[in-house]
Amino acid sequence: MTGRPYPKIELHVHLEATVRPERLLEIARRNDVALPARTPDGLERFCRFGGFEEFVVVWVKTTGVLRHGRDFRQVVVDYAADLAAQGCRYAEALFSPSEPMMRGVPWQEVFEGYCDGADEARELHGVDVRFTPDITRNFPPEIGERLANWAVRYRDRGVVGISLGGSEDRFPPAPFARAFAIAREGGLKAAPHAGETAGPASIRSALDDLGADRLRHGVRAVEDTGLLSELAERGVVCDVTPVSNLRTGVVASLEEHPLPTMLAAGVKCSVGSDDPVLMQTSLTQDCEAAVRLGHTPRGMYEHGVAGAFCDERTRARLEAVGATFDWESVDTR
Ligand SMILES: [Zn+2]
Repeated sequence: MTGRPYPKIELHVHLEATVRPERLLEIARRNDVALPARTPDGLERFCRFGGFEEFVVVWVKTTGVLRHGRDFRQVVVDYAADLAAQGCRYAEALFSPSEPMMRGVPWQEVFEGYCDGADEARELHGVDVRFTPDITRNFPPEIGERLANWAVRYRDRGVVGISLGGSEDRFPPAPFARAFAIAREGGLKAAPHAGETAGPASIRSALDDLGADRLRHGVRAVEDTGLLSELAERGVVCDVTPVSNLRTGVVASLEEHPLPTMLAAGVKCSVGSDDPVLMQTSLTQDCEAAVRLGHTPRGMYEHGVAGAFCDERTRARLEAVGATFDWESVDTR
């Protein structure tokens, strides 16, 4: 692909997994925290994993260096620069505050750091970053409820919804219903992970018990045609991440990815990079993979705008970008 990057929206990216090895080592030194490697190359080698559970181990051993507001702020600003270079106009990012909280970092430190980062990212790079903090389902639901309360407090600072992440196959959604009710009553939306490492039952529960407005992944909806058409009819956008699905073994090959089936059923699919550094991908590479699977640059952008939890003014601005861009000029060969 050549020329200027076409406009993009990213609704599925975990900020802890966007930190480049050099920056991670710098933060680790600053915070006096040990990493599994001392060089960028060594860290990259450590980050090669096979399957979802190994990925979780890599995640815990690397993202644990983030401890202070300054770290979180830096992570957002760095990634916004990457996004701007890729033509991305709007991102709805995830972060997992319960993990630092378990290591003794106050909730407020995490929320303030990320929200300050979004302010700086807008000024420096012109990218709108909003947040959907991620409840770690491996922890007790009460921690998720505390997260939801904190998320509501930061609604005016760019938090637009909450998510649910972690080991989907071992921790079903229903026990987190109260956390999602707290968020909804506080004016936030819901975009949990569902239908990645667990099947249609997990998606059903995310819709019914958590009131999911959008789904992170949702790809295993293709195992139930009734559910797939319901997602299409209700306009539930799925934030699909093809490269991540390949790396964690959710699909055996890119050719087998469910995206074409989802699009053919009329399901709107935004495209994201999920964990770009840990999965060795980028928003651009995921968009290229999605194009190979039959999505179009314009389709990805429009589905992203449809799924975004932003205010109407921001939505109108994003729509104007999509309406005026010369999509015909994009060369995707
Ligand atoms: Zn994710």
